[in-house]
Amino acid sequence: MDYVYGPGRNHLFVPGPVNIPEPVIRAMNRNNEDYRSPAVPAMTKTLLEDIKKIFKTTTGTPFLIPTTGTGAWESALTNTLSPGDKIVSFLIGQFSLLWIDQQQRLKFNVDVIESDWGQGANLEMLASKLAGDTAHTIKAICIVHNETATGVTNNLAAVRKILDYHSHPALLLVDGVSSICALDFRMDEWGIDVALTGSQKALSLPTGMGIVCASPKALEASKTAKSVRVFFDWNDYLKFYKMGTFWPYTPSIQLLYGLRAALDLIFEEGLDNVIARHNRLGTATRLAVEAWGLKNCTQKEEWFSDTVTAVVVPPYIDSSEIVRRGWKRYNLSLGLGLNKVAGKVFRIGHLGNLNELQLLGCLAGVEMILKDVGYPVKLGSGMAAACAYLQNNIPMIPSRI
Ligand code: PLP
Repeated sequence: MDYVYGPGRNHLFVPGPVNIPEPVIRAMNRNNEDYRSPAVPAMTKTLLEDIKKIFKTTTGTPFLIPTTGTGAWESALTNTLSPGDKIVSFLIGQFSLLWIDQQQRLKFNVDVIESDWGQGANLEMLASKLAGDTAHTIKAICIVHNETATGVTNNLAAVRKILDYHSHPALLLVDGVSSICALDFRMDEWGIDVALTGSQKALSLPTGMGIVCASPKALEASKTAKSVRVFFDWNDYLKFYKMGTFWPYTPSIQLLYGLRAALDLIFEEGLDNVIARHNRLGTATRLAVEAWGLKNCTQKEEWFSDTVTAVVVPPYIDSSEIVRRGWKRYNLSLGLGLNKVAGKVFRIGHLGNLNELQLLGCLAGVEMILKDVGYPVKLGSGMAAACAYLQNNIPMIPSRI
């Protein structure tokens, strides 16, 4: 019994899980199938080929794993590293914190580079650590591309440049959970060794599939990496890839069909158009925040995220109340502030299968909530700023011209 159901649609604006588009829901509404029939391996083969396109890789090997982003992290780490290995990891918000916690619990020797929440990864510090590591004791650099807790996007091209400048062989492991398929992401060009995401973010699928892509260098590293791994062992997948049956265990048939439909939608729109749409959504949101007279948690423009905006509220307002109010009164789901920024920020997720007018519904809701909680917002101010920008920038829908 769905007792919380309200009239109309829930405006789901948390930064994942996100809305699932109707064609994807319909594609998943099907019976189980024998995964050992010829049909499922045939579909898997095309999925594995197509998924590489969203990572922008031709040389990577993808793994579709029944897990979440957290499991995808573990897959990346345990397949490439051994306990005691030194890794450099950036702490810039709740998700990088959780990944570091996992790295420590897996017994790696983690050198943490911490920044204020709202800032990006401290790359100067990375450069100085690499410069001092002539013996190449650092085995991997771990970085969250888009910190979902603060709305900060790190510059991966710059990280690669620093590694290359120092001719440092460390692996580059990247959490792309709230970036891949929404932000510019170039696995091959940026020399990323393992990139990963989760199905419930920009792919707009249900939660439950972790997608990990390994470079040839990462696969090579997996041959000597000594971390204990069983379910996540890439070797098991590769054995089944070779046999052409693809699955070392029972896959979720429904999720596979969902992924097929999700990728078809993305390719129909065009990946570059998807990325441009996210840029419009991010820009419109930031313009609205500015018009409300509120601050973006992200401290510099170069780190602004096009998938999530964390909005700082004045000290006399509890941001959790904004989220509660949105849910109770407007059927609007916003993201809470997490950990260090709990009560101080609320988050607007603008990723996945989402269009500009949907976003305007969310922004209108936020304005009313702000008024509800005693913030002196001028109703329509953020909407006007967002509309003025969007009206000039929304392209025609290619299939309808
Ligand atoms: N990494 C980032 C950047 C995230 O935003 C999240 C979840 O929101 C995770 C990792 C963890 O993913 P999951 O909750 O699917 O395990």
